[in-house]
Amino acid sequence: MEIIEKIKKLDCGDIVENADLRKYTTYKVGGHAWAIVSPYTIKDLQTLLTLLIKEKVKYKIIGNGSNLIFSDKIYEGILIRLDNFDNLTIRDNVIRVGAGYPLMKLALKTARLGLTGLEFASGIPGSVGGAIFMNAGAYKSDMGYVVRSIRVLTPDLDVKTMYNYELDFHYRTSFLQKFPGFICLDATIELRHGDVEEITKLINERKMRRLETQPLEYPSAGSVFRNPENNFAGALIEEIGYKGKHIGDAYVSEKHANFIVNKGNASGDDVKKLILEIKDKIKKEKGIELKVEQEFVD
Ligand SMILES: Cc1cc2nc3c(=O)[nH]c(=O)nc-3n(C[C@H](O)[C@H](O)[C@H](O)COP(=O)(O)OP(=O)(O)OC[C@H]3O[C@@H](n4cnc5c(N)ncnc54)[C@H](O)[C@@H]3O)c2cc1C
Repeated sequence: MEIIEKIKKLDCGDIVENADLRKYTTYKVGGHAWAIVSPYTIKDLQTLLTLLIKEKVKYKIIGNGSNLIFSDKIYEGILIRLDNFDNLTIRDNVIRVGAGYPLMKLALKTARLGLTGLEFASGIPGSVGGAIFMNAGAYKSDMGYVVRSIRVLTPDLDVKTMYNYELDFHYRTSFLQKFPGFICLDATIELRHGDVEEITKLINERKMRRLETQPLEYPSAGSVFRNPENNFAGALIEEIGYKGKHIGDAYVSEKHANFIVNKGNASGDDVKKLILEIKDKIKKEKGIELKVEQEFVD
């Protein structure tokens, strides 16, 4: 394909052609993409984007694919993974970390250093960039509590620092979600000094709780819906009798009704259909408009 040949000539990153998206999403669903490119440097990312914009080729940044549902059709464009942006420097309680760095690994690493603040993240399988985009969180904490600033690539392809107060962090949303033309390159995170044993104990307790309450034995993308105010999406799904309901191999989990799991060969379209069916039924039966937390990508 012509565009892939042009990308190869730029020598701007690792390229996986005709990429099987089941390998790049935690749901393990989706068709193929023309290619996934992992740039090595910011300069490479700028070079790649300049080409894609000039050639009017569709593109999207992906992190660890732990919040994405790709359709089964071919993604007619280029997916950009920042997994080579995985630098990490820790100075006292301040961390500079690349957008592609795995969030769980960061939470465990900082815990071992006796730094407190990222315990909530120890069970969230995203990248740092994806977590900032989503303002990922749990246990009444989220990225907005710890991120001091980030560096972004603006839609004009300039590098700019944005501070916490500019990032509009709210429940599962951030500035980046509202302005998808901005790409998070890296983040400066500020934690506090704490007690290694206490931090580790908390992480282990939460791990046990997740194992007991979430169907982690199957591929999924975590919670499907945001909790509506003063209610729980999982409870609403149970009340409409949808626990165990399935389309193909996409099942509403018996363990946690706000999870859909892939019990074998579910397709992206099965997952999407099931989500939209639940949303529709809850609207009809309960009069509540649930918001899908996960993202459909065509
Ligand atoms: C078992 C399980 C448990 C989970 N538990 C939680 C939980 O407790 N709390 C929670 O909040 N979430 C949870 N999640 C959901 C998911 O892990 C988070 O939403 C995570 O932040 C997504 O990060 P990612 O790197 O996988 O992003 P992806 O899913 O790859 O992408 C998500 C979005 O972020 C954008 N994006 C990614 N990187 C960048 C970047 N560098 N710059 C700009 N945009 C970017 C993408 O374009 C996309 O729109 C869970 C998922 C699973 C599978």
